[in-house]
Amino acid sequence: MVNLAREAAERGIKYFLISFVDLFGQLRSKLVPAAAIEAMVDEGAGFAGFATWLDMTPADPDMFARPDPASLIQLPWKPEVGWLAADCWMNDEPVAHAPRTVLKRVLARAAADGLAIKSGVECEFFLIDPSGRAVSDPNDRHVKPCYDQLSLMRRYDVITEICDAMLALGWKPYQNDHEDANGQFEMNWAFDDALVTADRHVFFKYMVKSIAEKHGLRATFMPKPFADLTGNGCHAHVSVWRGQINELEEPIAELGLAQKGYHFIGGLMAHADAVCALTNPAVNSYKRINAPRTTSGATWSPSSVTYAGNNRTHMIRIPGPGRFEFRLPDGAANPYLLQAAIAAAGLEGMASARDPGPISTINMYTEGHLLKDAKKLPLNLLDALRALEASEAMRAMLGDAFVNGYAKLKHEEWNAYSRHLTEWERETTLDC
Ligand code: ADP
Ligand code: MG
Ligand code: MG
Ligand code: MG
Ligand code: MG
Repeated sequence: MVNLAREAAERGIKYFLISFVDLFGQLRSKLVPAAAIEAMVDEGAGFAGFATWLDMTPADPDMFARPDPASLIQLPWKPEVGWLAADCWMNDEPVAHAPRTVLKRVLARAAADGLAIKSGVECEFFLIDPSGRAVSDPNDRHVKPCYDQLSLMRRYDVITEICDAMLALGWKPYQNDHEDANGQFEMNWAFDDALVTADRHVFFKYMVKSIAEKHGLRATFMPKPFADLTGNGCHAHVSVWRGQINELEEPIAELGLAQKGYHFIGGLMAHADAVCALTNPAVNSYKRINAPRTTSGATWSPSSVTYAGNNRTHMIRIPGPGRFEFRLPDGAANPYLLQAAIAAAGLEGMASARDPGPISTINMYTEGHLLKDAKKLPLNLLDALRALEASEAMRAMLGDAFVNGYAKLKHEEWNAYSRHLTEWERETTLDC
């Protein structure tokens, strides 16, 4: 086990950030001097849980965030600070509905069968100006800006500072590009165990925002920050391993995906509505999926529950042997709940041998209406939340404490949104 006091002395770490992610994906921390870290490893850093987005009351006892020493990352842009992912504890027990705990619990179910779920995520983001109102580069104006070299290279300093950091951290980054919206970028690193990827996903978002700010910019992972532009997806690629063997790889199977993989996909399709509440957790998420065509020509996001081979117009794509891509999640997804939702639905699908139906080959954006049986994705957060609450399968996998607590807080968010009076309502209703 990593000894944090020794690491601090050897690596010149002056402070540790003991961090956890609440139900809404917000990163919460205490900044602890290295001299005090030893006690914090056993006991944890104390928090009033109700002050964060966790389902707690002000009368609850202290919650403790116990750092996972193996997650230590020295901030590449401020190496005197060591970041630690932590698990939430209360009354000497893990908090049952805390996101990292929920993910660990689902992954433990897979581990009990000797399986490990591995995943890689594609966290799209925009570099915008500090006001949050516009893309930061006024010259990034192409109608089809994807892979645009000039716009990418105008942001070389920011992108390479982040990529250099990932190289140094050993994440094995392998490409960076300008994405399909003006001001939008994507940076890819190698897949790993779902928990490792979730911790890195949390850190990636923090790092991108921090380095963007250092350069006088702002980064956003908001699902649909600009109505006419492609939104921020967070595709997740998935495979299932037994030791060194990828159980989803089967050269003689259709598209090189083993039957287990089709059952996993069947689970995601069967539970897509409930999964949506976790992979697309914001009011704004539903303006990315179900969206009209963007100025670039395609939204690149799904609106129906379908799957295909190497075809990016569907909710699930099988790009090559031994894995599939889940294209539904967006940039607002809580990294732990994103992986937990996928694992929960997929494991249930494998256990129940769920049949995903025939592979579709059509272009969903132009011929989607031909797939008469295809189920539409939820049109808003409320429908998704109700589906999650009603899902016995997801409750069994994720736990009632989690589903109830999450749904409660998210309903409050939905209600706050519903009370909000919009300009659109004025324009359409003033003269009623
Ligand atoms: P695309 O844009 O074509 O969807 P990217 O190259 O942007 O793909 O991202 C692919 C992601 O999938 C990366 O994180 C990669 O490491 C991950 N990946 C590749 N193979 C597997 C696999 N067998 N299991 C899980 N993730 C994988
Ligand atoms: Mg205090
Ligand atoms: Mg990609
Ligand atoms: Mg992309
Ligand atoms: Mg992708």
